[in-house]
Amino acid sequence: MPIRLLSEHMASMIAAGEVIERPASVVKELVENSLDAGATEISVEVSGGGSERIRVSDNGSGIPYDEVELAFQRFATSKLADPDDLDAIATLGFRGEALPSIASVARVSVATRAAGEDTGARVQVNEGEAVDKRPDGVARGTTITVSRLFRNVPARRKFLRSPATETAHIQNLVARYALAYPEVAFRLTAGRSSMSTPGSGSLREAMAAVHSLAVADGMLDLGTPDGDGYGGGGYGNGDGGYGYDGAGVAVSGLISQPSLDRANRGHMSFFVNRRWVQSRMLTFALEQAYRGFLKERRFPMAAVNIELPYGAVDVNAHPAKTEVRFRNGDRVFSALQQAAREVLTAHSPVHPLRGDGGGGHSGGNGGRGGSSPFWPSEPFKGQPTWGDGDRDGRGGYGGYGDGDGSGEAGTALTPKQTLPMLRALGQIQNTYIVAEGPDGMYLIDQHAAHERVMFERIKADAANSAGMSQALMEPVMVELDERRREILRARGDTLAELGMVVEPFGGDAHLIRAVPVILTDADPARALVEALDDMGQSAGGESWFDRAAHSLACHAAIRAGKTLAPEEIAALTRQLERCEQPHTCPHGRPTLIHLSGSRLEREFGRR
Ligand code: ADP
Ligand code: MG
Repeated sequence: MPIRLLSEHMASMIAAGEVIERPASVVKELVENSLDAGATEISVEVSGGGSERIRVSDNGSGIPYDEVELAFQRFATSKLADPDDLDAIATLGFRGEALPSIASVARVSVATRAAGEDTGARVQVNEGEAVDKRPDGVARGTTITVSRLFRNVPARRKFLRSPATETAHIQNLVARYALAYPEVAFRLTAGRSSMSTPGSGSLREAMAAVHSLAVADGMLDLGTPDGDGYGGGGYGNGDGGYGYDGAGVAVSGLISQPSLDRANRGHMSFFVNRRWVQSRMLTFALEQAYRGFLKERRFPMAAVNIELPYGAVDVNAHPAKTEVRFRNGDRVFSALQQAAREVLTAHSPVHPLRGDGGGGHSGGNGGRGGSSPFWPSEPFKGQPTWGDGDRDGRGGYGGYGDGDGSGEAGTALTPKQTLPMLRALGQIQNTYIVAEGPDGMYLIDQHAAHERVMFERIKADAANSAGMSQALMEPVMVELDERRREILRARGDTLAELGMVVEPFGGDAHLIRAVPVILTDADPARALVEALDDMGQSAGGESWFDRAAHSLACHAAIRAGKTLAPEEIAALTRQLERCEQPHTCPHGRPTLIHLSGSRLEREFGRR
């Protein structure tokens, strides 16, 4: 066949495939247009999973009568004027492709009236051509109705899923935009189901509409680290914004407290300058922040907006505009990770006993501002002695809050106080420590708690790199099989960084020359072999360094089943209090659970 030019209609149908993949893509483009038009109310109606009909109405600026046909021509846009504009795109749309793409694969009708015009227009568009246009009195704004989607594109139609699935995609999409624009009232009707957001400007209220009240209440404010978390405004406007201004990156929004975890990544929404984006980098940054707060394979919920200068992000990187390129990705990564980390460390609650109600914000455990008059809010002024049981040993019955640790010098590292002071009372089943706190009783898992202490200590030691490694008087010989040798070759540096120094000694034999201080009393050969085996397993997003540190910490930690002396019990409790993340072990399991005073009263029928 000779080379021929495609007809304009064929060409636009092919091009449309890039932008309009499924019914949800139509909704996305129409909703973006409504948002670009400054709408404060957007209503989406869907039938037949969107293949039958999609209608999006807004109260935005409308399309001027004389420009309606133009809007359906390829590369016709009111949003870009000259090439420089491409450097700093402030609107969601900019290519002038969406309406013509939709019109080439569906039947479209438009009713619109522009601000300042008396009469509006009704236009019918068939196969990309405006076939019928007449003036009419329509309300200000724009309503676009799309029907018979992909009726003329069998190839595309074949790939559509069931109406229910396509509807779910649309619901998901509208929910994301509703979270990105809490000041816009969204309404979605799909068959018998509907969703609407108040458009009050409060992200938390939008969250309540999209998810549930319980979820909305359980979210932590990224913007206001020590605020009460309620009545949180929208994104980043004014005092709500998280001020990483120095770096030109502001992070704001809501993230879930650890108890609200989910089984998949689908509940994290990221917006860049309020454009919904799919970004592995942002997802990863947030997951990193939750490391140690969540169990493995559990994921947070989030609605986070990253605000940065338009010029610092390229939004023209993907046909559907769902991916962006950052000029300085590292900076964005760490801004998000740090902001989330800070909020989590400040708010992370003690795991309440199941059925104890109240989520994590109940008395005494809420970190800042939650302390009762009996509990000094900042009892730890000195530098923590990471896990040094001997120096730190004090009687187990020392009473409340007598300022333990304040005599120690140095202020370089002041831990966030996220655990109240606890009075250790004893041990049960050689496994749990019973303690009294400001609001009831705490049960500490001795292994999990000590693992947390050791984990933070080995990492702090490695960071200070002074005296963290203990040379062995007698090097210990260990034989390693090929698989372990392989891991040692690849990851020996990481182990050395943590204080475990190993040298080849010919054949399978290796010499352990030094161990991390925390392992002084442990069996070095077993610790090494276990660490290599742990590092040989898939890392699941965790850094090699953390993985090795976990393994060594686990090895160094007191086992369940070991009888502890009262001094040891008290020391472990103190050490846990001083941890950066005292509430979970490095694997995300709780280190302690809380039985509140009110729960006790309830259980005993006092109330
Ligand atoms: P783009 O959004 O990239 O400009 P579109 O094909 O989506 O391209 O839309 C073309 C033009 O039609 C827009 O630039 C805008 O001027 C106008 N338009 C489309 N939808 C609306 C709407 N809901 N309200 C006002 N104007 C609209
Ligand atoms: Mg558009």
